[in-house]
Amino acid sequence: MILPILKYGNPLLQKVCEPVTVFDKALEALAKNMVETMYAAPGVGLAAPQVSVLKRLIVVDVTAGEKPGQLIRLVNPEIINQEGEQYEEEGCLSIPNFTGKVRRPYRVIVSGKDLQGREKIVEGEGLLARVFAHEVDHLNGVLFIDHLGAIKRDIIKRKIRKKVRAGEW
Ligand SMILES: [Zn+2]
Repeated sequence: MILPILKYGNPLLQKVCEPVTVFDKALEALAKNMVETMYAAPGVGLAAPQVSVLKRLIVVDVTAGEKPGQLIRLVNPEIINQEGEQYEEEGCLSIPNFTGKVRRPYRVIVSGKDLQGREKIVEGEGLLARVFAHEVDHLNGVLFIDHLGAIKRDIIKRKIRKKVRAGEW
């Protein structure tokens, strides 16, 4: 099932999410729906708060479904190690049609759990590291525009307000 994706301005996108403690069928169903929603968008990552669920769950596929075996579903993800730096253009399904350059680690190690509650460690570099950092940010109520300089951020916010007034957001 494809879920509606919340857009910037919705207060749920600025909340700190709760850790997942129950690994049940409902969690599996949520993850499945998030994957469908991400692929339909299409996007390379999605965090539960973007579909109105304030739980620490992310799905990531840097090929956006183009290559099999690239899908990662991670519960309670935490960046436990990071190194290097990248400074690339970034977007967000909750802030459609806007991008900005964001500084991210080049390489990360992320710990978390799979949908059955088993410990899982994932490494990522380049785009994958960036997506992990972006999605974990979502679980803490942080959006990519929060990393931009004040001027760039205000320009985007002003344009969004204009779209809201025009009924286009
Ligand atoms: Zn995002």
